Amino acid sequence: LMQLSIPLNFIGFVYREIRQGLADIEAMFALLSVKAEVRDRPDAKPIAIQNASIKFEDVRFGYDRERPILKGISFEVPAGRSIAIVGPSGAGKSTISRLLFRFYDVGSGRITIDGKDISQVTQESVRALIGIVPQDTVLFNDTIAYNIRYGRPDASEEEVQRAADLAQIGPFIRSLPDGFEAMVGERGLKLSGGEKQRVAIARTILKAPPILVLDEATSALDTHTEQEIQDALDLVSKGRTTLTIAHRLSTVVGADEIIVLKAGEIIERGTHRDLVAAGGLYAEMWSMQREATEAEEALRRAREAD
Ligand code: ADP
Ligand code: MG
Repeated sequence: LMQLSIPLNFIGFVYREIRQGLADIEAMFALLSVKAEVRDRPDAKPIAIQNASIKFEDVRFGYDRERPILKGISFEVPAGRSIAIVGPSGAGKSTISRLLFRFYDVGSGRITIDGKDISQVTQESVRALIGIVPQDTVLFNDTIAYNIRYGRPDASEEEVQRAADLAQIGPFIRSLPDGFEAMVGERGLKLSGGEKQRVAIARTILKAPPILVLDEATSALDTHTEQEIQDALDLVSKGRTTLTIAHRLSTVVGADEIIVLKAGEIIERGTHRDLVAAGGLYAEMWSMQREATEAEEALRRAREAD
């Protein structure tokens, strides 16, 4: 019986690994809502970079031939600097992040990292450079520790704990009966949107990628949680080349450059000050969001006075 149980355990282990691997890949694609369509060139080598500067050069792209989505996008993010992309929904903001992650190849133009065309190197090596904090974090049906360590599987327990603390979720995890070993996901503990997002931030802190892509969806969160998450994001983006897709403009005020995208074209660009002074679409979005925030606050004060 002993002799038999060892191989069976082993098979169980391999099966679990394979299943988990598939679940992870599926979750990853679901998360970015795209299919794997890109193939490496037969002679593709891993990308080798000295710094993580990003450049889009007249990038054109459409998911299908009939409908162009990006119509000549050019921008540059020097290593360690930040760019924010804002604009109406459907403008093509998330498409830009998918192209950078090379879920698709560009129709024409080029995307380079440290001057290297990302379509000429292995996808895997490009993706290893990039950490994404997505709008909707999908957690694996496993422990919180597993979900954080996914960012760097060889991380020690101390590193996992430290990442959780930096993402401002450590104390919450320790307050759970099973702590870091608590099961999460569909069959485990249900975490709130903000908690899941902080797990994703902890994962990214652990991965410590040179490039960060933040597709913020903090609009569903209350102001207090949003501020905590923003603090965690500010910390993780320090010194990294960062591309932020922003829904709330309050989070892009400090970006080195803001790009306003509309129907696949850059219609305005500059710093927050430049754009407010220019009195265009950004200035309009800014004043509308300010009014909405003020109305929210007035409502909250009225409720508190009751
Ligand atoms: P944003 O993030 O600015 O809201 P997206 O980049 O997600 O916009 O989408 C830009 C346009 O591309 C939208 O019209 C959207 O419907 C379309 N689109 C997005 N993903 C796909 C896809 N996988 N296949 C076909 N069209 C898509
Ligand atoms: Mg989007």
